Amino acid sequence: MFSLTKLPRPFLDRGEGIYFYDETGKRYIDGSSGAMVSNIGHSNPRVLAKMKAQMDRSTFGYRLHFRTHASEDLATKIAEMMPEGLDRVFFVSGGSEAVESCIKLARQYALAKGEDSRWKVISRFPSYHGSTLGTLALTGYDPLARPFDPMLRDMPKIAAPRTYLDRDNLTEEERGLKYAELLRDKILEEGPETVAAFIMEPVGGASTGALVAPDSYFKRIREICDEFGILLIFDEVMTGAGRTGKFVASEHYGVIPDIVSMSKGLAAGYAPLGAMVAKGEIVEAVEAHGGFLHGYTYSGNPLACAAGLAVLEEMQEQGIIENAAKMGDLLKARLTALMERYHFIGDVRGKGLLLAFEFVSDRDTMRPLPKEWNAYLELVELAYERGLIIYSRRTRGGSEGDHFLVCPPLIITAKQIDELMAILTEALDAFAANHALPVLETEGAA
Ligand code: PLP
Repeated sequence: MFSLTKLPRPFLDRGEGIYFYDETGKRYIDGSSGAMVSNIGHSNPRVLAKMKAQMDRSTFGYRLHFRTHASEDLATKIAEMMPEGLDRVFFVSGGSEAVESCIKLARQYALAKGEDSRWKVISRFPSYHGSTLGTLALTGYDPLARPFDPMLRDMPKIAAPRTYLDRDNLTEEERGLKYAELLRDKILEEGPETVAAFIMEPVGGASTGALVAPDSYFKRIREICDEFGILLIFDEVMTGAGRTGKFVASEHYGVIPDIVSMSKGLAAGYAPLGAMVAKGEIVEAVEAHGGFLHGYTYSGNPLACAAGLAVLEEMQEQGIIENAAKMGDLLKARLTALMERYHFIGDVRGKGLLLAFEFVSDRDTMRPLPKEWNAYLELVELAYERGLIIYSRRTRGGSEGDHFLVCPPLIITAKQIDELMAILTEALDAFAANHALPVLETEGAA
C-alpha cells in the first residue's frame, strides 16, 4: 500500500548534490530529498571531512559516561538558530524518537507541577507523527494506526484546517480562527485538567501533502493553549532545519511553541539524528522533580552530532536556508503555472521547498481522480523512468486523493529547477496521454 513505485528499485551507486546515479550510470534528480531528508544534498565533501575527523577521534561515547564536544557544540548551535527561549536540546536518532521524547517531557512536566491528571496529548487529523506505538496514537492517519488499535491509547484529535477543500463564504483569516476554535472545544470536551499538550505539524507533511494553515490559526492556537496551561508542541521533524525557508516553520507565524521535535534535515541523511528542543523552564521543572525519565542508547551519539553540526554550519556558510526560501518561491510559481496546462491539477501548496500538488477530476468539487487509476503510483513511475524522483500518497489524510510532494534539496539552483520541471512536464504529458486527459498548450508552462 505504501510503495512509492512498483518499478524494480535499482542499486544506488552514488549521490552528488541534488543527483543520484544508479549502478547502470543512470542519473536521477532527487526531487523529494529522499523522504524530505537530504536538505543540503548528497556527499558534501566538507560534511564528510568533519565526520571523518570525528570518526578518527571517537565514534561512540555513552552519554552517561562522557560529555562530548560534538553533542554540546551541536546543542549550542541549535539553540542559537532556534526562536527565543527554545534552548534546551535532547538528542535522539530519528523523528519518531523525537516526538516520543516530546510527549514524555510534556507528561513529566505535568507531574512536576503536581498536575497528575494531565496526560492527554491532543493532535490533529490528518497528521503524521511517527511509527512507534506512542507516536502512532497521535497520528491522524487511519490506515497506519487502526491495525494497532487494541495496543494503543488513542489520543483525542481535531480536524486540521484543510481550508482548500472548504466551500464557504469565510475569508482565509476567518477559516483559520474557525479551525483553531476546534482545539478549545476539544479541550473543554475532554476536561482541561486532563490535557497535557497539543501537537501539530506547522506545515503538513506526507499525510496531507504540504498543507498550510491560514496565518490566523497559529496565534489563536497559542492563546488557547495558554488559556488552559497546555503545552504547545510543534512537530518540525519534516519542516525543521530549513525546509520551509526558515530554520523552523514556526518562525513564519511569529508563534513560539513550548517544545519542538526535529529530525530529517538536521543531519540531512548523513547520520541518523533527531532532537527535542524545549524551553528552559520546562526542563528545569522536570530536572527538579527527579530528572527526565527517558533516553536511548544512541542519544547524543558523537558521530551523528558531528554530522548534524557540519550540516548546520554548511547551511549557514552557504546561505542554504535563504536559498530554500528563494528557490521555493520560484518552484511554487512554476508548479502553479502547470495548473493552466493540466486541469487535473487541483491545488498547489506549501512553503519554501516543502511543496505539493494534488490531482482532481474537477476543480469545482475537488473530486479526486478514480481510485483504480492509482495515479499516485503512475506519475511517480513516469517521472522515475525519466530520471526524476518525487514522493506521493493516495490520501488527503481523511479522504481519498492523489498528492505529490516536490521537495528537492535546498541547494537546488534555478537552472536545476528548469531541469526538474522539464522532466515533470514530460511525465505529466505522458500521464495525460494515458488517460486521454486534455493538455492545454500554454506558454512557459514548463
Ligand atoms: N513527524 C513527522 C512530521 C514526520 O514527517 C515524520 C516522518 O515522516 C515523523 C514524525 C517520524 O520520523 P521517523 O520516520 O524518522 O521516525
